[in-house]
Amino acid sequence: MQRLGLEQRYVYGPVRSRRLGWSLGVNISPTAVKHCSFGCIYCERGLTRVFYGSPQDRPEYMPPTSEILEEIRTGLERERAAGRQLDAITFAGNGEPTDHPDFGEITVETRRLRDQLMPRARMALLSNARHVQSARIRDVISQFDIRCLKLDAGEESLWRRIDVPFGVTLDEVVAGIAKISGVTIQSMFITGKVDNATEAAVGALIERLRFIRPIEIQVYTLDREPPLSGVRPVDGERLREIAARIQRETGTPAIAYGGE
Ligand code: SF4
Repeated sequence: MQRLGLEQRYVYGPVRSRRLGWSLGVNISPTAVKHCSFGCIYCERGLTRVFYGSPQDRPEYMPPTSEILEEIRTGLERERAAGRQLDAITFAGNGEPTDHPDFGEITVETRRLRDQLMPRARMALLSNARHVQSARIRDVISQFDIRCLKLDAGEESLWRRIDVPFGVTLDEVVAGIAKISGVTIQSMFITGKVDNATEAAVGALIERLRFIRPIEIQVYTLDREPPLSGVRPVDGERLREIAARIQRETGTPAIAYGGE
């Protein structure tokens, strides 16, 4: 497994994604420092060095909105000029997209650029759901065609050990996600230092999923080297068992990715 560093640009790829097809990545998080509202112990971008403070925060290293939008425009123009059809424009990158104070403005402008330059590409968001208690953030999330929100555990203490959230509780996150329609939940399963692949942990997650009622659940495991030693991937057979149990007990499609 390889380590993945921080993206040094606001637009990267396109990359071939198992879930999204040809996807142009959009990173609206800082490029110089790992900044996030979670400190997930498996994060492929490394350990979080600076935790996000409040929605009003605008540290000097936060990427300027005008520069982000200019890179998005240039990236879409480049792909269009090359005759490449993108399947998705995906907000993900170095940290949590909704942490950016201009997340709403950037989303609206990117949709406009998408409509103009690459109208068949779907707008996708990968988010840790840190800010879903905010109606304003939920409205912005709902503007994405594909809304993938993270939920790695159904029990507070286990969730804290894996995701190391900053300034939010699991109940708040789950209640907020449940208010957004058409959500896909992504759950990362790990073992070793912390284990959320036990039957008890999966059962607690299922309780939360029944409340949220997503349209799909994607379960996956590490395919990059984690920043902490002792954090290990779940094997493929166990991952498929987990997906099967989730689908059986929630009645919602659950798909396993990875864990070969
Ligand atoms: S929420 Fe995403 S970017 Fe932030 S620490 Fe977790 S995996 Fe990394």
